[in-house]
Amino acid sequence: MYPRPFHYHRAGSLQEAVTMLGQAGDEARLLAGGQSLIPLMKLRLASVAHLIDLNFIGGLSYTKEEDGVIRFGALTRHAEIEESALAQEVPILYDCAAGIADIQVRNRGTLGGSLAEADPSGDWAPCLLTLSTDVICLGPQGERTVPLAEFITDAYTTVLGPAELVREVVVRRPPPKSGGAYLALKRAAPVYATASAAVQFTLADHDTCLDAGIALGAIGLTPIKATAAEAELRGKQVTDKTFEAAAEAAMAAADPQSDKRGSAAYKRALVGVLVRRAAEIALRRARGEKMEAGHIYA
Ligand SMILES: Cc1cc2nc3c(=O)[nH]c(=O)nc-3n(C[C@H](O)[C@H](O)[C@H](O)COP(=O)(O)OP(=O)(O)OC[C@H]3O[C@@H](n4cnc5c(N)ncnc54)[C@H](O)[C@@H]3O)c2cc1C
Repeated sequence: MYPRPFHYHRAGSLQEAVTMLGQAGDEARLLAGGQSLIPLMKLRLASVAHLIDLNFIGGLSYTKEEDGVIRFGALTRHAEIEESALAQEVPILYDCAAGIADIQVRNRGTLGGSLAEADPSGDWAPCLLTLSTDVICLGPQGERTVPLAEFITDAYTTVLGPAELVREVVVRRPPPKSGGAYLALKRAAPVYATASAAVQFTLADHDTCLDAGIALGAIGLTPIKATAAEAELRGKQVTDKTFEAAAEAAMAAADPQSDKRGSAAYKRALVGVLVRRAAEIALRRARGEKMEAGHIYA
């Protein structure tokens, strides 16, 4: 189906995009990779009167690091992150980026667009929730920094104001002796996950867990930070028993709905398996082992 007629605007700068959003009103939308928005427009599920294209603004696509702070421009494509040296060093980023849909989607889709879309099944939000992540937003009143944990408020809903956009995503590099893994179960590449789990932790001496982050995706209206599951690891020695306790707590935190991807009971059980497996991979990576992980196809 063709989308409804709309006005196309090409923003020359982020500030101009903010001004255009303010002037165009409720039915204005930003265009990043178009991988979520264009299908919705073509299905006429999104009604857009003014489309404001960010793609001609220079310098919005980057991955850089200074003093342990990693910065991603809002327009950084999934494929750029997948291919970056950084993703080899922080493998949970690679697991997530490399598993999103197929290469066509990864070449166009952006990190900023993914977080702004706040799709309950999106991969980036649960992955980045296990790291210390902030979203830098720009609006008519200037810039503000929003912790990712506060950025998504409901399904397809964020704290962004009507004329506000995502400018940058900032992630702290995990300290030495850290490891993480992001696992998502999918039925095919170009579909969203049935459930996903991200686990990231830092070890102290004797395999004691200094800090832990566990988050779940596609298992509620928003990504879920499984804080009770994190508490099962933090300060304890990581063993099969502690992983089991964390998996149990993550299952309790999940809020799945039955749908064509599976029953709520099946998805809850799946969360337990994904958390346990992700924790095992995270542990091996924290010990310095190189190993592949990522999306699992059923
Ligand atoms: C076949 C297919 C399969 C997919 N499978 C997956 C999957 O398995 N996992 C997954 O995570 N994703 C998946 N996606 C979605 C994909 O990752 C998109 O790239 C992602 O949703 C973001 O879209 P985008 O960058 O293309 O943004 P767009 O589609 O251009 O925009 C999405 C929304 O975000 C807004 N927006 C965009 N940029 C900004 C910004 N900087 N500031 C504020 N608002 C902004 C737009 O106005 C729009 O409302 C899939 C997409 C397709 C087509």
